Amino acid sequence: MLGIETSCDETAAALYQPEAGLLAHAVHSQVADHAAYGGVVPELASRDHVRKLPGLVQGVLRDAGLEAEALGGVAWTRGPGLPGALMVGAGFARSLAWGLDVPAVGIHHLEGHLLAPLLEPQPPAMPLVALLVSGGHTLLVQVAGFGRYRVLGDSVDDAAGEAFDKTARLLGLPYPGGPAIARLAEAGRPGAVRLPRPMTDRPGLDFSFSGLKTAVLHAVEERGSDEQGRADIAHGFQEAVVETLAIKCRRALEQTGCRRLVVSGGVGANARLRERLDALAAERGFSVHYPRLELCTDNAAMIAYAGALRLAAGERGDLDFSVRPRWPLAELPVPG
Ligand code: ATP
Ligand code: MG
Ligand code: FE
Repeated sequence: MLGIETSCDETAAALYQPEAGLLAHAVHSQVADHAAYGGVVPELASRDHVRKLPGLVQGVLRDAGLEAEALGGVAWTRGPGLPGALMVGAGFARSLAWGLDVPAVGIHHLEGHLLAPLLEPQPPAMPLVALLVSGGHTLLVQVAGFGRYRVLGDSVDDAAGEAFDKTARLLGLPYPGGPAIARLAEAGRPGAVRLPRPMTDRPGLDFSFSGLKTAVLHAVEERGSDEQGRADIAHGFQEAVVETLAIKCRRALEQTGCRRLVVSGGVGANARLRERLDALAAERGFSVHYPRLELCTDNAAMIAYAGALRLAAGERGDLDFSVRPRWPLAELPVPG
């Protein structure tokens, strides 16, 4: 199965085979192209996908020592994402599949993220609870089986990754904010800046991170003038996000009776979050599973994997390659 991902500012291709696992994967990030504009410019993203995608696909085929004729199917990201960027992957994937006379499967990007931890050795069995923390989403999902998802909690405003990115900007750090804040936080003094743990004082599994951003703004006005102050703020912010996520994960596991947690999305690469969830798992007797770091952020390995599972479940896309820039996870059809 060839996987193709072009939903935002990463162009990616990957090859996955059910018996052998992940054969090859490659990602080209456009971060540097958009840096000067302070955010992703959709038109530039689409054009760069056009330029990079064919070479990436040829690259993974070469890495795996395969000819295109060996492909049994092509999985591509149908949404959610930037419409023009999605169309590049959709058009390329559908045409290639048509030319090779193999099935094409349009994949929900968040299903990809959610399944990424299962690409690792000794994947957990289902049912499980998934924490999906990316640039655009913060979701707690009950996973009864492949394709059977129930959203338990969602962000009512900013996503966790978005909060890292906006806080980074307030601290004068570059995009993406997550890694930059994690680095700066290492020099921060524990307890020097204490920020709120939003929505943990009431029941429920929803998240809200926009108030935290306002708290950071005030802290920056008060303490952000020197390097130690900024490090303390980064530390306090990271602790607040990590603790908030940990509290909601614990609640979701208690509420569902699940004993397994998977974590995915870019914020899932955060070392402090992993440390905190590992400690919680040891304390409460559940297991927690993460993708390798490079499969936390956008990649095509997760798309190829989801595609292989959907193909095995009998799903076949038709010749249509319409995209779904907005696509709630709850509207994803159950396979088979
Ligand atoms: P979505 O999948 O919701 O559309 P996305 O694909 O843009 O969003 P990802 O690529 O999964 O999101 O993740 C990017 C986000 O992860 C960014 O907001 C980035 O700041 C954050 N991130 C990356 N590494 C870390 C880290 N070590 N700590 C915290 N956040 C991180
Ligand atoms: Mg990205
Ligand atoms: Fe993503």
